[in-house]
Amino acid sequence: MMTDLQIAKKTALQHITTIAEKFGVSSDQIEMYGKYKAKLPLQAIDKKKAAESNLILVSAISPTPAGEGKTTMSIGLSEGLNRLNKKTTVVLREPSLGPVFGIKGGATGGGYSQVLPMEDINLHFTGDFSAIEKAHNLLAALIDNNIQSKTNSLRIDARTVSWKRVVDVNDRALRHVIVGLGGTTSGVPRETGFDITAASEIMAILCLAENLSDLKKRLGNIFVGYTYDKEPIYAKDLKAQGAMTALLKDAIKPNLVQTIEGNPAIIHGGPFANIAQGTNSVIATTMGMSHSDYTVTEAGFGFDLGAEKFFDIKCQSAGLKPKAVVLTATVRALKYHGGADLKSLTVPNAEALKKGLPNLEKHLENIAKFNIVPVIAINKFLTDTDEEIEVIQEFAQSKGVRVAIAEVWAKGGEGALDLAQHVIQIIESKASDFQPLYDWKSTVTDKIETIAKEIYGAEHVDYTGKAKAHLRKISNLGLDGLPVCIAKTQKSLSDNPKLLGRPKDFIITVREIEIAAGAGFLIPITGDIMRMPGLPAHPASEGMDINDDGEIIGLF
Ligand code: ADP
Ligand code: MG
Repeated sequence: MMTDLQIAKKTALQHITTIAEKFGVSSDQIEMYGKYKAKLPLQAIDKKKAAESNLILVSAISPTPAGEGKTTMSIGLSEGLNRLNKKTTVVLREPSLGPVFGIKGGATGGGYSQVLPMEDINLHFTGDFSAIEKAHNLLAALIDNNIQSKTNSLRIDARTVSWKRVVDVNDRALRHVIVGLGGTTSGVPRETGFDITAASEIMAILCLAENLSDLKKRLGNIFVGYTYDKEPIYAKDLKAQGAMTALLKDAIKPNLVQTIEGNPAIIHGGPFANIAQGTNSVIATTMGMSHSDYTVTEAGFGFDLGAEKFFDIKCQSAGLKPKAVVLTATVRALKYHGGADLKSLTVPNAEALKKGLPNLEKHLENIAKFNIVPVIAINKFLTDTDEEIEVIQEFAQSKGVRVAIAEVWAKGGEGALDLAQHVIQIIESKASDFQPLYDWKSTVTDKIETIAKEIYGAEHVDYTGKAKAHLRKISNLGLDGLPVCIAKTQKSLSDNPKLLGRPKDFIITVREIEIAAGAGFLIPITGDIMRMPGLPAHPASEGMDINDDGEIIGLF
């Protein structure tokens, strides 16, 4: 069997100007990064046309650590829709270098459903993450500089500063650091740390910003900490937002690439799906919608995490109305939820699969709460048996839900034709009428409890003393009207990663609530959320190389 990189290399790429023309933007409007990547200008966004386009969200059931194939499905579905003469663009997130060298691998799809050039997209791409890193670390430097300064002091209490530094590598040794060592000329010593770049609030901000001035306003609103007099300090108090926006002048523009079948694809931004909204930028999505009949996009992790945030934060913020949900389900994840061991997921086991179906059932109930019609896409693996696939099909039929077997990994768009037909039928019958789950204006605890009870299936929400203090702080800062972005494990519908399937009668504990005032949401934290992952004992980097011709080898 060929690796993803081998399949990618066998594909003859079209020049990016050809792809741009196909997308609907003239070749002299794009900014080329070599022959196969380009930045699209913000002027190519047409809000009127975007409002007429059809947005499709690809989500998934609660995933195994390997991921259930949302990216692969999104790419394959867009190839399938294009084959059926619907002008379709897939809009995705940019990969973080953390997983590329770590365990999960890249984020450019797999098999015959990939976006290209995959080695470039997975390694640096057009430098957006670097620009975000620079803007983030500029603010960190301005904060420490102000703490050091005698003549320009805002009297920031260094112990209250929540803004850390970021770098785009899994580097656990940087989680906790002390800066400012080395005497009076080298800063004021204080404890801080590093997160991975994708976890930066600036990533979340860039992905919710509508344009440069909105970006600047949001950057200015980043909450930094307090003064000794307990007054809040924002990035704008350090006059940081102008320079930070200048650093992001190119990163704000969406990146155009192509799929294996030569269709346009837009890849832009890459926020986490637990501490952030987990989906590509508003600008990229509206760009796709400005030039396509159908726009296919993905939100991270399972429906409970990424999709809820996609609907309640991104769609509400940008006024988007998605028309269909593709719920990716795999035989392996359902067996896992039914009690099968992670190592035995390739062994046929229809009994475990049946026991795992309640997880799928809960995600279907959740989609209905947003008034959107779903289709289950069974992401077929070579090890799946017919019996196992039939169990899922029969379950879907018993629930009156559309279901399609998608062989996008093995066959590309050809393997997505049935799925694409279902999506077209859902859209053409105008079957969905999107409604968000909650009103941003309701209280913070109401918002948290609505999500916890309705989507996760919790009985009750507990708040630690710290979380209660944070609720008071949020109220004092006048930030109650922000939506909530709950940070929770993706492994379970609950906040306990060990509770698989469809847990019931559980209590969600909110340990603390962070403020992302620039991005425009609050982050109730329910458990340990890793913002600076570590590398495994044998990192993927050990297998990577480049030959004398400059060709990359060993990338997935
Ligand atoms: P997600 O977006 O849900 O995290 P991805 O689409 O990135 O998932 O897929 C995760 C991994 O699984 C990728 O390495 C991809 O190539 C692989 N994969 C996805 N679908 C299949 C399939 N049907 N058969 C084999 N491998 C697959
Ligand atoms: Mg993905």
